Amino acid sequence: MVQYKCMRCGNTFTAEEMIKTLGVRCPYCDARIMFKMPPLIVRRVKAR
Ligand SMILES: [Zn+2]
Repeated sequence: MVQYKCMRCGNTFTAEEMIKTLGVRCPYCDARIMFKMPPLIVRRVKAR
C-alpha cells in the first residue's frame, strides 16, 4: 500500500483515505502538498 505524507501537518495516510476526501488532499488538514512514500521494504541480508 502506497502511503502519503502531508507536508503541512506531517500525518501519513493511504491513498484510500485520501480518496475518501473526494480529491487529492490531506484528510486531516486539507493540504494539497504531500509526499508519496513507498512501502517499507524489509530486506534481510544474510551474513556469510
Ligand atoms: Zn495534513
